[in-house]
Amino acid sequence: MQTRPRIAFLGLGIMGLPMAGHLLNAGYPLTVFNRNASRTWDLVQAGAKPAPTPSEAAKDADFVISMVTDGPDVEQVLLGSDGAVQSARTGAVFIDMSTISPDTARLVYRNLLQHQIEFLDAPVSGGDVGARNATLTIMVGGKQDVFEQARPIFSALGKRITYVGSSGSGQVVKACNQVMTAVNLLAVCEALVLAEKNGIDPQVMIHVLSGGASQSWSLENLGPRIVKGDFSPGFMVKLLQKDLNIVLSQAQRCGISLPGTSLVQRFLEDNAVHGEASEGTQALYKALKRVEG
Ligand code: NAP
Repeated sequence: MQTRPRIAFLGLGIMGLPMAGHLLNAGYPLTVFNRNASRTWDLVQAGAKPAPTPSEAAKDADFVISMVTDGPDVEQVLLGSDGAVQSARTGAVFIDMSTISPDTARLVYRNLLQHQIEFLDAPVSGGDVGARNATLTIMVGGKQDVFEQARPIFSALGKRITYVGSSGSGQVVKACNQVMTAVNLLAVCEALVLAEKNGIDPQVMIHVLSGGASQSWSLENLGPRIVKGDFSPGFMVKLLQKDLNIVLSQAQRCGISLPGTSLVQRFLEDNAVHGEASEGTQALYKALKRVEG
């Protein structure tokens, strides 16, 4: 019987925890690392092996998956003094699924190549719901043959899995995704405010628009949370701020301004000033209401 490759999973946050769970359920031998070790407990109960450092986690792994916050965190868990590279075997494949800048992804790729370790940037879209339901959209940059090796792993986590080009390309497509996410979220908040100001039941408005040309993930998933006053995080304000910083610096390099994205970034700054940085991105509605009264 063919044995499944061994996976080390680093970072068990809102996204990483359910994703690692799917890999365990799919039968992959799994070692898990999380900085705050208590988040490993449920997976360890279910059969995963805990590791105290990324380096320990990566020891016998065929694939190392990271799902942490930002570029410096990816560099730390993969390349740092306790990082996965310190113990990984030649020929292992590292897959970073966090959202980071394309430049950092390429830097990590080049660094790992020197250790004869392959690297894919494979950021995701679909939110906490997509992570829980294994319906993520996954956009992958790196070598195509390495992508094909990793495809069965991606299939346990998502539905639309696409190779998009050389190293860093996955993160460029993710930056495009975040433009859509940000501007659409503002549109959802504006539509809700307009409906309310005109005495329309917002739930009715969401129901109607979800069946027409303005249907969107944010409308269907975040609209009802806003109506309920539920601002708990699926995707935190501070993480969208991080992503829009990546988007806007990428835009600056190609000499474009992305005015819609810049406007959303200003609303998010207002969220942060009002202590809402760790709330869900649907808190953008609160920033808009402060302007609209
Ligand atoms: P999260 O809940 O804040 O989880 C972040 C994880 O990264 C935690 O496990 C955290 O460990 C770990 N971490 C951060 N910095 C670290 C470091 N320097 N060393 C070791 N571990 C570190 O965030 P999330 O929502 O899961 O997001 C993870 C990534 O996915 C981000 O890049 C985000 O932009 C992206 N993303 C998120 C969503 C979403 O809807 N949430 C959707 C698509 C993409 P501790 O538990 O110890 O803090």
